[in-house]
Amino acid sequence: MNNENLLKEVISQFDFVGEVIQIRPYGSGHINDTYLVEFKIKHMGVVPIILQRMNTNIFKNPVQLMENILNVTTFLRKKIIQYGGDPERETLTVILNKNGKPYCQDSEGHYWRGYHFITGATSYDEVKTDEDFYQSGLAFGKFQSLLSDFPAHTLYETIPDFHNTRARLEVFKKAVEEDIINRAKDVQKEIQFILQREELANKLISMQENQELPLRVTHNDTKLNNILIDDKTHQGLCIIDLDTVMPGLAVNDFGDSIRFGASTALEDEKDLSKVQCDMHLFEVYTKGFIQGCQGQLTLAEMQALPLGALVMTFECGMRFLTDYLQGDTYFKIQYSTHNLDRCRTQLKLVADMEKKWNEMNYIVEKYIS
Ligand code: ATP
Ligand code: MG
Ligand code: MG
Repeated sequence: MNNENLLKEVISQFDFVGEVIQIRPYGSGHINDTYLVEFKIKHMGVVPIILQRMNTNIFKNPVQLMENILNVTTFLRKKIIQYGGDPERETLTVILNKNGKPYCQDSEGHYWRGYHFITGATSYDEVKTDEDFYQSGLAFGKFQSLLSDFPAHTLYETIPDFHNTRARLEVFKKAVEEDIINRAKDVQKEIQFILQREELANKLISMQENQELPLRVTHNDTKLNNILIDDKTHQGLCIIDLDTVMPGLAVNDFGDSIRFGASTALEDEKDLSKVQCDMHLFEVYTKGFIQGCQGQLTLAEMQALPLGALVMTFECGMRFLTDYLQGDTYFKIQYSTHNLDRCRTQLKLVADMEKKWNEMNYIVEKYIS
């Protein structure tokens, strides 16, 4: 069946009223296929909705995933109403199908979902100014704050062990040992760098096990373009793209944002002299994130923010090297040493953060008090 007919078939499964007047691909997402559908409804005019074909190659369990999204957005909606916000614009609204399910399946087996379209807001692909990065920290901090009393353990772990750095270290060691395509001999320096720091892989997990760090709702894809920015106020309005919402640690989200957002170079930069963790950008994001959290994080969580940045970067470097050793089966590559280059930028960032460790902690302390 062609795409247009599939779309019509899907639209008929949701409880929409009105006549479809336009369907077009929308946005610049890379994971799901996103469409804007416009309905003409009597007395209401044109009503837009977002329709997405979910990527089940990546997300193997779309039913659990949608249950997570429905639970989190329902909770957010209540919170937003409590503080007098606009629940139609400040969180995603999942559209149920005619059987009350938060998704539907087309005749080819694809899973689809619908959201109310949030108007008067834009998602920006690039961080252009410090203000953008600050707003991003503020928005993801607020996300933590609003969900601070959500029972995170009730969410499905849609990608098991996603930030289980300890488990990822074991996979890495196995990849080194098996060395299936004989690459280990060329990357001894990187392997040793990781092994010398292997205790890093345990740090956050042990703190979680000792209950020093509480289980939280984490977003796990904290890019700028996963925030809708209000066109009028230029402030973060709504966190979108909740596919990877899972139980985790608040410092995971913070750390991943620093890893990619405070770096002075691209993830695959070959000239490592260009790669640093920029302390100004670190401060900008930290300020936004802590302010956004509105006192809802524990002191231990805030003090662990630099550790979150270090461990997330270490984990990412280790994952790139694992994939390189396993023959590049997970991350898409454009050339044969792409994953190695990516690993090197991450390890360079780790080394740079170690050098700047006191400064990072000093910055965090400044915004805690
Ligand atoms: P990514 O590549 O970031 O993983 P994705 O394929 O998972 O993206 P989304 O981020 O969910 O897709 O959506 C793609 C784009 O569609 C967003 O960047 C945003 O511009 C737009 N969008 C998604 N949901 C809505 C909504 N409810 N209202 C308005 N625009 C939306
Ligand atoms: Mg997205
Ligand atoms: Mg996504």
